[in-house]
Amino acid sequence: MIEVQAAGYFVECPACHHELRINKRYVGQNVACKFCKHPFQLDRQSRKVRFAALFTRCPHCDGELRSAMKYMDQKVVCKLCNGHIHIIPDETTPAIRTGDTSQPS
Ligand SMILES: [Zn+2]
Ligand SMILES: [Zn+2]
Repeated sequence: MIEVQAAGYFVECPACHHELRINKRYVGQNVACKFCKHPFQLDRQSRKVRFAALFTRCPHCDGELRSAMKYMDQKVVCKLCNGHIHIIPDETTPAIRTGDTSQPS
């Protein structure tokens, strides 16, 4: 079992809802949507910014893996090489929200 961290995230633009692929080094920073140019802060605590999935590089086959956020801190199998990987959270890991009950403001 090899432990890996997310290399980045697939994030939904809060303005146009296109999915953006963003390296994790931008977490906590201001970014701009490449589709609609909407600027927003990639705040991992924000309810406006939806982290849809994470991506990382498979340490077995060097292929890129996309994984739903719910697999953070879970053991997954690379669909390219069937290698086993444990995706471990790091300081950029967004809060995992289950059953979002936020009220519209
Ligand atoms: Zn956008
Ligand atoms: Zn692999």
